[in-house]
Amino acid sequence: MNELSGIFDTHAHYDDVKFDGEREQILASMSAAGVSNICNVGADLESSKASVKLASEYDFIYCSVGVHPTCIDSLPNDWLDQIENLVKLDKVVAIGEIGLDYHFPDFSRSGQLEAFEKQLELAQSLGTPVIIHSRDAVEDTVAVLKNFPKVSGVIHCFSGSPEVACKYVEMGWNIGFTGIVTFKNAKKAAESAKVVPNDRIVIETDCPYMAPEPFRGSRCDS
Ligand SMILES: [Zn+2]
Repeated sequence: MNELSGIFDTHAHYDDVKFDGEREQILASMSAAGVSNICNVGADLESSKASVKLASEYDFIYCSVGVHPTCIDSLPNDWLDQIENLVKLDKVVAIGEIGLDYHFPDFSRSGQLEAFEKQLELAQSLGTPVIIHSRDAVEDTVAVLKNFPKVSGVIHCFSGSPEVACKYVEMGWNIGFTGIVTFKNAKKAAESAKVVPNDRIVIETDCPYMAPEPFRGSRCDS
């Protein structure tokens, strides 16, 4: 990894269609803006492969590969083998984003749990860091992660309470904060950012999503 002298956006989705037509131009502006590195995060097989491609094209981009809990439907039988093969490629630094999302009832919880655990097992066997997506599912996320004490990484886009943040930190996890810390209706996220030790915080944009105030709702970048 090249020397870290600027901002490392640890969670971005530059493969997203919202960047189509402007991707190259935006990525070319990163260095001048003080952004030295980016981790482009996969959420299904397609975006994982796109993330690997971006990392191969840009020196300063690293990537993660994995299947997000809302992307588990219609996966091919060999999806986990495909993820494993991708993880072993150059510049793939994490498995993610993976986890549990109970916000919408459309995705079976048992299916999510199974995909989450399988990817954590893979991370454990390969010693790869993990990027966790957890929405309205703290209890189950904590319970599952307790079964994988050797696996660590980042709890992505954290918006929970200081108590929950401290619990994750105690378990060895780092906390990722996005533009949510600036949202007026997300006071808990800002409170949590105050109590998490600085060396356990990573910054993420989750771009093109999660633009901070006063740009909430618009496309953002690193
Ligand atoms: Zn994301």
